[in-house]
Amino acid sequence: MVYDLIIIGGGPAGVTAGIYSARQRIKALLLTKSFGGQMVHKAVEIENYPGFEKISSIELIDRFEKHLRSKDIEIKNEKVVGLDKKEFFEVVTDEGKTFRSRAVIVATGAEPKRLNIKGEKEFLGKGLSYCPTCDGPLFSKKRVVIIGGGEAGFETALFLRKYASAVTILERGEKVFASQEIQERAKKEGINIITGATVKEIKGKDFVEEVLYNDESIAAEGVFVQIGHAPDASFAKNLVDVNDKGEIIVDPETYETRTKGLFATGDINNGRMKQIVIACGEGARAALFAYNHLIKNYELDSIN
Ligand SMILES: Cc1cc2nc3c(=O)[nH]c(=O)nc-3n(C[C@H](O)[C@H](O)[C@H](O)COP(=O)(O)OP(=O)(O)OC[C@H]3O[C@@H](n4cnc5c(N)ncnc54)[C@H](O)[C@@H]3O)c2cc1C
Repeated sequence: MVYDLIIIGGGPAGVTAGIYSARQRIKALLLTKSFGGQMVHKAVEIENYPGFEKISSIELIDRFEKHLRSKDIEIKNEKVVGLDKKEFFEVVTDEGKTFRSRAVIVATGAEPKRLNIKGEKEFLGKGLSYCPTCDGPLFSKKRVVIIGGGEAGFETALFLRKYASAVTILERGEKVFASQEIQERAKKEGINIITGATVKEIKGKDFVEEVLYNDESIAAEGVFVQIGHAPDASFAKNLVDVNDKGEIIVDPETYETRTKGLFATGDINNGRMKQIVIACGEGARAALFAYNHLIKNYELDSIN
C-alpha cells in the first residue's frame, strides 16, 4: 500500500502537520520515536504558547498528542533510519519495516548534544540525564551538577533547586550565557556557578559519584547535560542538502527540499528562529504545501 503522506516526528511541527493532513482527508501516516520532542527537556513552565499564560511541558505534550489522536491519521511509534525515493518515497524504520508514500514531511527537530567524554554513556540513566523534567524529582536531597551555563542550564538549575540539596552549574566558557534576570534568580537561590570549567569525566561505581573538571572534582549523585541541541538528518542524506549545522536546506516559502515532494519543517530545517509556535506554524504550512504537491501531481481519485 502507498500512503499519500508520511510525517516523521511527533514534536510541535510533526503533530501540527499531522492535524492539518488529517483535515485534508488524505491517507497519512505519522512515525515518531516519541511525542513532545524538545519540549520534554523544558525544566520550567512554557510561557509563550498562545492560549496558555503558563503551561507545563508535560501538559502541553499531552494536549498535542490527544489532539492528534482525535484525528483520522495512522500513528506508529517507530524510529526512522532510512529514506530514499524510487517510484515512491521509501521510509525504513528501526523495526526493519518499509513504508511507501507520495510525499514526506521530515519534522525530526533536534536531539540533546552529547559531551562525548568518559562516563557519559556508562552513567546514562544511572545519575546522568539530559531531561530535567523526566528525571529531576529522582534527585530529592541529592547533590546535582548541571553542565552548561546557557538559558536551559539555568532553567534546569532553578527547577532542580526544588529537590536537590546542592546545585552547581559548570560552564566551559569564561562567562555564562543566560539572561541577567535568570542569573540573579539563580544567585538568590544559592546556586553555585563555576565558569572556565571543562568537564573531563563522570565517575562512580554503579551510579554517578563525582564529576571531574579541569584538575578538580566535585561530588554529585546527579548530572544534567544541558549544552544545546543539534539536528540529525543523516537518514535522509541521499535526498537533501544540509548546511554546516546539519540543518536541512529548504525553500523558505514552501519548506520543500531539493527533492520534489519531500518537505522539512520545524527545527530540522535551516530556518533561523526555533520556537514551539514557529515549529507549529511551519508544520501547518508544510502540510498545506504537501497537499498542493499531491493534488498537482497525482490523480485526485488516488486521494481518499
Ligand atoms: C530546554 C529547552 C527549552 C525550550 N523552551 C522553549 C520555550 O519556552 N518556548 C518555545 O517556544 N520554545 C522552546 N524551546 C524550543 C522548542 O522546544 C523547539 O523549537 C520545538 O520543540 C521544535 O519542534 P520540532 O517539532 O521541530 O522538533 P522537536 O521538538 O525536536 O521534535 C522532534 C520529534 O521528532 C522525533 N524524531 C526525531 N528523530 C526521529 C526519527 N529518526 N524517527 C522518528 N521520529 C524521530 C522525536 O522523537 C520528536 O518527537 C526549548 C527547547 C529546549 C531544548
